[in-house]
Amino acid sequence: MSLRIRMYDVGFGDCFLLTFDKKVHVLVDCGTFVKQKRDRVDAALKNIKKETGGDLAVVVISHLHSDHHCGFTENKELWDDPKHFRVGEVWLPWTENPRDPAALQVQETIGLSVFGIREQDADWIRYETGFGGAKRRYLPDGNGLSIPGVNARVDCFGPPKDPSFFRREQAAERLLRAAGSGSGSGSGSKEPLFAPVHCRLPGKGRRPLEDVVATEEDVLGVAGKLMNNRSLILLIRYGEHGILLPGDTEQGSWIGAFDTTDIERHLGDVTVLKVGHHGSWNATPRMLVNALKGPLTSLLSTQAGISGENPVKEVRERLGGLGRVIRSDEGGGKDAGGWRDLIQV
Ligand SMILES: [Zn+2]
Repeated sequence: MSLRIRMYDVGFGDCFLLTFDKKVHVLVDCGTFVKQKRDRVDAALKNIKKETGGDLAVVVISHLHSDHHCGFTENKELWDDPKHFRVGEVWLPWTENPRDPAALQVQETIGLSVFGIREQDADWIRYETGFGGAKRRYLPDGNGLSIPGVNARVDCFGPPKDPSFFRREQAAERLLRAAGSGSGSGSGSKEPLFAPVHCRLPGKGRRPLEDVVATEEDVLGVAGKLMNNRSLILLIRYGEHGILLPGDTEQGSWIGAFDTTDIERHLGDVTVLKVGHHGSWNATPRMLVNALKGPLTSLLSTQAGISGENPVKEVRERLGGLGRVIRSDEGGGKDAGGWRDLIQV
C-alpha cells in the first residue's frame, strides 16, 4: 500500500497528482491564475504524462475557475487524444451537471462569475464531449464513490445541495443586512473568519468590502465567491491517510457542509489538507480548523503577492500549530518543472 501526493508549483492555482500503489493516478485540478505561469502548467502536464503514461483513473475538477481548469481547457487536444491521455472518470460539482434542472438554475442565476470560464470550455468540461468522452460524475450524487482499482474510501461533502448556502458569508450577510435586502440569518452564530473582510478589485487595490459594494448584486459578484462555493469537498481515506480536498470552498459552503452533512465527525481522520483558495482569509474558517485534530500536513498551493494578503498569516499559523505547512512557492524546483512530492508511504 503506497501513496504519493505531488504538488506542482503552478503559481496561484492548483495541480495535484495522487498516485496510489505506484500505478493508479488521480489528478486534482490543473491550472493557474497567472499568464506568466502557463509554462509551469505545460511542464506539469509533461511530467504528468511521464509519470502516468497517460492513464488517469480520475480527473477531479473542483470548480470552474481558470486557476483550476486552464491546464485542461487550454490543452483540449491532449485530453481528447487517447494516444496522449486516457481518463477513466471526470468528477465535477453537482452544480455543473448539464442535465440537472437545479444545477441549470444555479448556472442561470449565478452564471459563470468573474474569473470564470468561457461557455464553450464549460460545455467541454460538463458534457461527455471533452476528455475523450470520459464518464462524468456530478457530486455529491447520493451514490457510493470509489477510485477504480484502489481500496480507498471516498466521501463527498460539498458543494451543498441548497444553493442558498453559496451566499452564506459573513461579508455578504453583513452587507445584505446593511442594504436592507438580506435574510440576515445564520452565519453570524458561527465562528468568525480569521481576517478582516476585504477584497481586491482591478485598479482599486485592496479595499474593505463596504467601500466597493452596495447592492446585493455587488455582493454576490465580488471575487467570484459563488463559483468558489461551488467547489467539491472530497475526503479520500486510504490506509492511515485522510486527504481533504475542498477546492476553493469558502465560508458559505463550509457552513453548508457542517449543517447538512456529517463531515464534522470525519475531520479527525484528516492527515492532509489541501488548503482552500490558496490560503485566503475566507476559505479556512475557524470551525474547520477547530475540528481538525492533526498531526496535519497542510498543502498550500499559492503565489505570494497575487491576491492581497494571500496566503493569510493567521491561517498559516493556525494550520502550522497542527503540523507542517508546505507551500508550492517555497523550496520547490526553481525551473519550469518545479514540483514537490509531499507524502510518500
Ligand atoms: Zn483557485
